[in-house]
Amino acid sequence: MTNLSNKTALVTGGSRGIGAGIAIRLAADGADVAITYAGNQAAAEATVAAIEAHGRKGLAIKADGADTTALRAGVDAAAAALGGIDILVHNAGTAEFGTIGATSEASYRKMMDLNVDAVFHGTTAALPHMRDGGRILIIGSVNAHTLPFPGVATYGATKAAVAAFAKGWARDLAGRRILVNAIQPGPVDTDLNPASGPFAQVMTPMIALGRYGTVAEVAALTAFLASDEASFITGACIDIDGGFSL
Ligand code: NDP
Repeated sequence: MTNLSNKTALVTGGSRGIGAGIAIRLAADGADVAITYAGNQAAAEATVAAIEAHGRKGLAIKADGADTTALRAGVDAAAAALGGIDILVHNAGTAEFGTIGATSEASYRKMMDLNVDAVFHGTTAALPHMRDGGRILIIGSVNAHTLPFPGVATYGATKAAVAAFAKGWARDLAGRRILVNAIQPGPVDTDLNPASGPFAQVMTPMIALGRYGTVAEVAALTAFLASDEASFITGACIDIDGGFSL
């Protein structure tokens, strides 16, 4: 456990999967946590209940990350409810696969809007609300640097873009002691990438540890990077992939 007492956090895409795991772990470590979600209200309410079960304040805000106006309003609402933001976790993201020539404009736009543009706009909206010494943590992917099969270029490009954000913003925000890092998972068992099924049968043998990661494992790294223990880590892009990208 880390000590996040008296901290506030906003996790985008916190209703399910990795984002839900992060939101609940940050609350378990002492933070009040707001989440955004796209449409799954029941799942969002379940995450809030789990946050509150740790005795922390929880809040769910419906805000499509691809809608810049809604995203900015969601960030403002979270900051108002929590009394500022210490920890901003950009987690909401999507993945679609298609080789070049077989990737539609709509699929390209969807990934760019949510995986890249929302990280930019969410950060610019949050910065006025963030206290000095805060954290910006971006859930990227090992596909930022490892593309082990055809059809993953656009998704990988979005994750390479946010890796560059992490490095560049680490320098931009160092004067405020806001530390910025990217967390780059390999395959993690979620609705987006279930650990069973035909895709998993291809992926699992490529992972050195021979299994998918869990949301709890990604949440543990996120909590560490959010904590005072990680005070000299900024601009890092840290793989958490069970040896998938070796
Ligand atoms: P899931 O699809 O399981 O969960 C996605 C979450 O994001 C949900 O809470 C969903 O809300 C929310 N969301 C989806 N679209 C939007 C949107 N337009 N606006 C706001 N919120 C949205 O995904 P994962 O947990 O697997 O992935 C989370 C992140 O981790 C992504 O950035 C992904 O690229 C990254 N990642 C995942 C890996 C994996 O193997 N799972 C590996 C490497 C990286 P709702 O419930 O309302 O739909």
